[in-house]
Amino acid sequence: MPSEGLARLNIDLDALADNFRVLTAEAAGAAVAPVVKADGYGLGAVAVGRRLWAEGARSFFVARLAEGEALREGLGPERAAAIHVLDGLTTGTGPRFVAAGLTPVLSSLPQISAAATFARNLGRPLTVGLHVDTGMNRQGVTPAEAHALALSTDRLRGLDLELVISHLGAGADPADPHNRRQLERFAAARALFPQARASLAASAGIFLGPDYRFDMVRPGVSLYGGGPQERPDARLKPVARLTAPILDIRTVRRGERLGYGAKVVLEQTTRVAVVGAGYADGVIRAARGGGYAWFAGARRPLLIVNMDLLAIDIGEAEAQIGELVELLGAHAHLDDLAAAAGTVAHEVLVRLGRRGERVYIGQDAPPLGELSRRG
Ligand SMILES: *Cc1c(COP(=O)(O)O)cnc(C)c1O
Repeated sequence: MPSEGLARLNIDLDALADNFRVLTAEAAGAAVAPVVKADGYGLGAVAVGRRLWAEGARSFFVARLAEGEALREGLGPERAAAIHVLDGLTTGTGPRFVAAGLTPVLSSLPQISAAATFARNLGRPLTVGLHVDTGMNRQGVTPAEAHALALSTDRLRGLDLELVISHLGAGADPADPHNRRQLERFAAARALFPQARASLAASAGIFLGPDYRFDMVRPGVSLYGGGPQERPDARLKPVARLTAPILDIRTVRRGERLGYGAKVVLEQTTRVAVVGAGYADGVIRAARGGGYAWFAGARRPLLIVNMDLLAIDIGEAEAQIGELVELLGAHAHLDDLAAAAGTVAHEVLVRLGRRGERVYIGQDAPPLGELSRRG
């Protein structure tokens, strides 16, 4: 029974583990290093990290230093994973990397110099990664800078460079020639640092074929059920299931408005179920129109999405107040909701709200209440 009409988010750790196995098989020998930034794409980095450690993951990626510290604490001393911080290291943050045993992924010349200075003062080598920008123009040293670094070993003195990474901008579109261009630039960059392992592919890149896999892959969204090509992929299982109860059922006559303003005027008399979830629970408002929920064995168009309530067209379906509607899950596909809202699955996941119930299911699920809140 839903308590007080709350939306409920089930986070299925067994599905997560299945997706990890699918990606591991696809990676064909490359290490699979889960990306658990933004609190595990909103699903709980510690719960996700613990379960994936149990499945064999030994390296993880986060974006922020504080995320790395929280993950280290949550994994505990018995799970000695490598945790890479994509933001890298800036002056003054070195001691925190050492204290939490985190690996900065350095992404600019100033970061490299800050890390090297810190390491020399520390008196022992600091393990780091290096991000090379191969064509996203967002993060990382340029290939020319990487070349210069490889020639002047002095700039890397004190640093133990164990990983070279880059990131694809168009991996979700296998036909885009930019992928190949980035691959060639990356192959050249990684050859400059033969002692380091190499990693190029995120979720999408894993499915571009063996050339893209190198030593390590870094999936995020596909671990959580998002298709690598931004559409539902039957190989992957949904990890997040959002349901909410029907609060009211009403017949709205043709020509009547629905919700705020005059944007939604019904073209025909419609049976509408009002559901106890809204954009505060993570159903993105822009998904109305093209988006759908799943109820009574069929897709039901999302007519409006307000903060606390949404309305769906239930057609002729039999419905009772209190019955649950699936807003995200095995039938209401994450990628479909994202597309309807004009966004990507990543954003849908990180926007899932914290107002309703959050329940972890599957092996190693943390008990109700634990790990369910940020901060
Ligand atoms: C977010 C991120 C990933 C994971 O991307 P997905 O599309 O979620 O698989 C991998 N690498 C880097 C550098 C990232 O920023």
